[in-house]
Amino acid sequence: ESFEDMQLSRDIMMDIRLHEYTKPTPIQAQAIPTALSGRDILGCAETGSGKTASFSIPMIAHCSNQPPLKRGDGPFAVVLAPTRELAQQIADECKMFSHSSKMRTCIIVGGAPIQEQRQMLRQGVEVVVATPGRFLDHLQQRNTNLQRVSYVVLDEADRMLDMGFEPQIREILTNLPEKHQTLLFSATMPEEIEGLANEYLNKPVRVKV
Ligand code: AMP
Repeated sequence: ESFEDMQLSRDIMMDIRLHEYTKPTPIQAQAIPTALSGRDILGCAETGSGKTASFSIPMIAHCSNQPPLKRGDGPFAVVLAPTRELAQQIADECKMFSHSSKMRTCIIVGGAPIQEQRQMLRQGVEVVVATPGRFLDHLQQRNTNLQRVSYVVLDEADRMLDMGFEPQIREILTNLPEKHQTLLFSATMPEEIEGLANEYLNKPVRVKV
């Protein structure tokens, strides 16, 4: 399958071409059409497989289909990642695919000034890429909210559990609005991940590379 066959918007296709992604990687060929159809995904994939674009491209498409954000609204999509470095890479890739569609992405990680993050969140952004602890801090401080969130990604979920983020992840997932789509990616599928998927994913399509 090619990107042209995926019925993506002209804006997103422009950004894909601009960045010279000529052919989808195997995980992208599986995950993008599935995510666009609204299904949940349980993805087994490692870094280097192209997994970031496999959830970012349908995420930007999803956000572009929402009514415009109003003042005080929280994001449409949240990506949780284990480390600042990974969050930065994801945010960079989201920005690549949202240049033409003008969706705004902000990165919310520990160790960075909280005041600037609060300002970005309050101005309104369609996509938040975050480490779980700091994002939860902002939710608790009411700097943003989960009321509009309808697309959630857990990236490198096994590493997030290894780093002790399970309580924060559960707290966030438990408080999402009823109607939302969840994508969970993990390099390994230990029982803890299967358990989390059983609890929080709705009939996920399994994608593996
Ligand atoms: P990831 O596995 O998401 O960390 O991606 C690994 C690298 O492959 C990143 O530098 C991406 O920019 C690049 N990449 C991902 N998908 C494609 C594609 N379809 N065509 C060309 N490069 C890609």
